[in-house]
Amino acid sequence: MLLRINCVTVAIFVFVVMFLHSNDASANATVASCQEMLLAGRYEDCLKATTDAVANKSYGEEWPILKAESELALGKYPEALETVAAGIERYSWSVRLRLLQYKSALANGKRDLAAAALAETEKLVSSASWRYTDADDLVALGEIAIALGADAKAVQEGFYERARKNYPNRPDGFLAAGRLALKKGDVPFAAELLTAAEKTMPDQADINFLLSEAYRTSDAEKATEFLKKSLELNSNYAPAMLRITEQQIDREEYEQAEKTIQQLLTVNPNLPEAHSLQSVIWHLRNDEAAAETSRAAALKFSTANPEVDHLIGRKLSQKYRFAEGAAFQRKALEADVEFVEARIQLAQDLLRLGIEEEGWQQAEQAYKADGYNTTLFNLLKLKDSLGRFTTVSSEHFQVRMETNEAAVYGPRVLALLEQAWTDVTARYEFTPEVPVYVEIYPRVDDFAVRTFGVPDVAGFLGVCFGKVVTANSPATRKENPGSWESVLWHEFCHVITLQKTSNRMPRWLSEGISVFEERRTDSRWGQHMTPDFRDRILAGDVTPVADLSSAFLTAKSGEDLNFAYYESSMLVEHLVTVHGLPALNAVLKDLNDGVQINDALDRHTDGLDILEESFAKFLNEQATAFATGVEFATEELAAAKLVDLVSVKAFLKDHPQNFSAIILYASLLIKADQLHEAQSQLKKLITLVPQDDHTNGPRRLLSDIYKQREQTELEMQTLTEHLQYSADDLEAAMRLQELCELLKQPERVVELGATIFAIDPFQPSALTRTVTAAESLGQTDVAISALTSLLTLQKDDAARLHFRIAALLKETDKESARRHVLLALAHAPRYREAHKLLLELVKEAAPQQSNAEAVKPSALDPPASREMPTTEPQN
Ligand SMILES: [Zn+2]
Repeated sequence: MLLRINCVTVAIFVFVVMFLHSNDASANATVASCQEMLLAGRYEDCLKATTDAVANKSYGEEWPILKAESELALGKYPEALETVAAGIERYSWSVRLRLLQYKSALANGKRDLAAAALAETEKLVSSASWRYTDADDLVALGEIAIALGADAKAVQEGFYERARKNYPNRPDGFLAAGRLALKKGDVPFAAELLTAAEKTMPDQADINFLLSEAYRTSDAEKATEFLKKSLELNSNYAPAMLRITEQQIDREEYEQAEKTIQQLLTVNPNLPEAHSLQSVIWHLRNDEAAAETSRAAALKFSTANPEVDHLIGRKLSQKYRFAEGAAFQRKALEADVEFVEARIQLAQDLLRLGIEEEGWQQAEQAYKADGYNTTLFNLLKLKDSLGRFTTVSSEHFQVRMETNEAAVYGPRVLALLEQAWTDVTARYEFTPEVPVYVEIYPRVDDFAVRTFGVPDVAGFLGVCFGKVVTANSPATRKENPGSWESVLWHEFCHVITLQKTSNRMPRWLSEGISVFEERRTDSRWGQHMTPDFRDRILAGDVTPVADLSSAFLTAKSGEDLNFAYYESSMLVEHLVTVHGLPALNAVLKDLNDGVQINDALDRHTDGLDILEESFAKFLNEQATAFATGVEFATEELAAAKLVDLVSVKAFLKDHPQNFSAIILYASLLIKADQLHEAQSQLKKLITLVPQDDHTNGPRRLLSDIYKQREQTELEMQTLTEHLQYSADDLEAAMRLQELCELLKQPERVVELGATIFAIDPFQPSALTRTVTAAESLGQTDVAISALTSLLTLQKDDAARLHFRIAALLKETDKESARRHVLLALAHAPRYREAHKLLLELVKEAAPQQSNAEAVKPSALDPPASREMPTTEPQN
């Protein structure tokens, strides 16, 4: 319902309004100074001043408003209600006091009174709407309209936009609109609006805070800046401090978070959000009794406040405790069935738990209640995309993929996952719940919405929620190819460790195990020592174990993040090397039993301190052993801006082991056709840094020289070496496969086919080479699976592909062979060889069956919808 603004003119109110605007200057000054106190967080001062003013019967609705606002900020909820009631007695026409009455009533758990305040406002407005055109009043009316269930868009336009237009120098219209937009997930609108407001009103804590919220997911640095500024303007500003508490919890800095909570409670001992977050920390420490005490404190004045359980649940879900999170959202909905935020969160929790049917139901129900919410809009759009997906299953997995993608590499996904299942369940002595759900998205935005609730989140390859894994398809990685097989392996390890610990594990340990297991499975997978890592370690720039989880959240660059993965994985590797896998398993078991990580490490190693010390030594040894003496710094070289051989050579005199300088030198030599010298420089580099796996590293450059000189054997040898270190270099693998085919090495062609498929399964030429090689080796299964992938990728070639499958199957599976030959003929009815093969098969299988019957396609065969080709397929 939307409040209507009628144009009723009642003369008497004109007088009142005129009177209002003729307040004497001294009173104005005091109101202004009290407003300043409130904005600066001097709530006690403001309360004292306004209490005096009210006692002295100073005129103006501002006095009880400022008094009640400071009482609310101090957690004096019952007092605020009294202040408002007294104010309304004197200023019965005030809609701002009604809004405060509504808010104070809710803070005190008095829902009837809150509803009555809304109803009274409606009455006031319908009898004298003309008087409420002030920015403050318009905003108050907008908030009341929202509380009455009005459409958010209508409120934005009808109230907040008017407030901004009429009073561009008042913050109210900007703040209310920004808050509403953020709540509904319309971040760009909020950012645009508030950026403009901040320019004209730079000293408002709340504008700065909302701006930091708007930038929270897109620009962490900017967000932190605005957050800091909001606290500079008001050091007691609760929303900003609550956000900081949440960030500390995210970073697993629970002690610091508790300190912030204490600061909040010093100002407002009854702040429900502060107690809720304290309850979250108790949950994470597995102290259920303390968690309940904090929850009760949060609900002290308003026992049915749904926000409390919603907040506790939301934070638990962020800690991957989706089942507990969902239970809290259900409690919130029990308290208030119309509390849509809880329903949205519940929908997402359920989807992440793999409880799809109810998850979508909840999302749709929430969308009916709130059509302006972009999270829901995106989620439901995703549901439409999912309609085009298909499910392929194996014993332990249900994999959802786009239908075409499933046809190309679905079977390999299942085989790989089952292999991971066998291997990792045995190692970690744990069997997760079945089925494990895996979803592979060919569109990055769909993946992001499914995973994070919002589109435009880049940089993630896969995410595991415990029972559900989401991943980006290799189709999304054309620009930056990499092994999708390693991603699925990594995520499946999370399935094991998260379930084994009931999601009670620090981030670093979970990531560390996943990367460690990647490397153990295939030495090319996972993070390895790099020049940058070496320099960080040797410079002592290593994160202490206690802060390792937060390193994932505070990473400022991709390299920072990669280093967090690397360091965590090396710590796990070190732990397993020194204490054995059973010790790691015992740590995981302890975590599941509620033991804290440092205690668990103390129990199953020689103690955290000794572990840290020996780890530092181990890591330093790794760094020292990596490319000894090689200089990787690039600053000096970049600053010198060298472009010719002579100057680079001169630079190398002072920096004989500078990696980038040698690479540059070699490149210039190649350009100048001095291939022999280039070759010897690159060979020198390979000896210095044999682990280098860069796509533009020395081995790749060297192989280019061999290619130029047509020294095929040497080119192949160099590429082979390179691919022993890289599982991601599509171009190198493609080239090598081509050469192996030329030199008639079918085994290697098949082997490289698998390498290429693990990076990019959509490469027809690689698949075609694999088929031919596998056919020649009698590897029927390999040939058939590559041909099956090709059927989707080369639809125009379907007749010949079906025929080749049929020919491969004719000895072992006549029925399938017959089906494929019929499909070949459906695509090319005059395909002579196919007719011949069919005849053979029919004769052998059922001599009594007539030819006409046999040729009729079975019900399973897809209809040939296209025009039939009239010629035989060409080779
Ligand atoms: Zn991971």
